[in-house]
Amino acid sequence: MDFINLKKQYQLLETDITNRIQEVLKHGQYIMGPEVFELESILADYVKIKHCISCSSGTDALIMSLMALDIGKGDAVFTTPFTFFATAEVIQFLGATPVFVDIEEDTFNICPKKLKYEIQKTIKNGKLNPKAIIPVDLFGLPSNYKEIQKIANQFQLKVIEDSAQGLGGKINNKMAGSFGDFGTTSFFPAKPLGCYGDGGAIFTDNDEMAEKLKSIRVHGQGVNKYENIRIGINGRLDTIQATILISKMKLFENEIINRNKIAKKYSNLLDNSIKLQFIPEGYRSAWAQYSILLENNNQRDVIQQKLKENNIPSAIYYLNPLHLQKAFDNLNYKKGGFKISENISHRILSLPMHPYLLDNEIEMISKIINSCI
Ligand SMILES: *Cc1c(COP(=O)(O)O)cnc(C)c1O
Repeated sequence: MDFINLKKQYQLLETDITNRIQEVLKHGQYIMGPEVFELESILADYVKIKHCISCSSGTDALIMSLMALDIGKGDAVFTTPFTFFATAEVIQFLGATPVFVDIEEDTFNICPKKLKYEIQKTIKNGKLNPKAIIPVDLFGLPSNYKEIQKIANQFQLKVIEDSAQGLGGKINNKMAGSFGDFGTTSFFPAKPLGCYGDGGAIFTDNDEMAEKLKSIRVHGQGVNKYENIRIGINGRLDTIQATILISKMKLFENEIINRNKIAKKYSNLLDNSIKLQFIPEGYRSAWAQYSILLENNNQRDVIQQKLKENNIPSAIYYLNPLHLQKAFDNLNYKKGGFKISENISHRILSLPMHPYLLDNEIEMISKIINSCI
């Protein structure tokens, strides 16, 4: 069994993808070919937003967004310690300071109450300028943007939605990627919408910011190619990756619906004593990961071992909350600093999840887990 099965999806799209790649090989516009702009328009329509700026990865999407906001030394950016390293890495990469905020026990996303407290504390401290918040749509579940936006408005902070795992999710009819000032996503193969290499995108309704992002994407280019008006990066998405994504977008909404059906099946079959990620009313998760919360790491070890004996892969996202990562030693956080993130990191386990998981596979996985409880 696979943790994420990309082969079944490829079988469905094989002819289309092969033909599309052939077309790119023939027209020869490997960099910023017409497919890149076609994809941006398809994605902007899907997310229901004015601009989509494709780029080279989810990490670069975050870097470019922070650069567009001129964030750097002396600035504080608030984010969760319970996420993939890149979310906070980009802040420190640009010389700014990540300020961590603990998560909610039930959704695993950044806690708005604690966010407000950390912002006030940072202001009182007077050492850093609060500039932005990067909430993460963890495992595909959008953060509480209603409350986060209120706080952002109160303290005049920008919001960058890290929706690397969240594309396809929504709150009522508002799509993940469209919250805050910028939404960023990743097309890393294992994400809900993945290409066959690295890729990413930024979403925004702001015309001026969209132009700035397009300039940053190509070395801070001005109106003509040989004019550089700011420092940028080489942040483009390859045409071949764009054409693969255009093909995959034909299946994407159905795949998200399937992921939701599979999550429901898991939830119905798993023992009632197992805690699951709470999906608030009106929210749809993209189910990038299906995760269960166990009693403690001993029980998790037992279950993971039992699954392994049955050739069922599982994964721990995330074993180490970011405030305890060596790379952030300079921030002087201590063990015990973010109790909920630490507690959940000892108990979380992610199960196989992809749109083509079969009923009998879900039944088998659930049965094995239940037998360990
Ligand atoms: C994957 C991921 C990223 C980084 O995306 P890449 O395309 O791998 O650079 C950033 N944030 C989160 C939450 C992610 O899951």
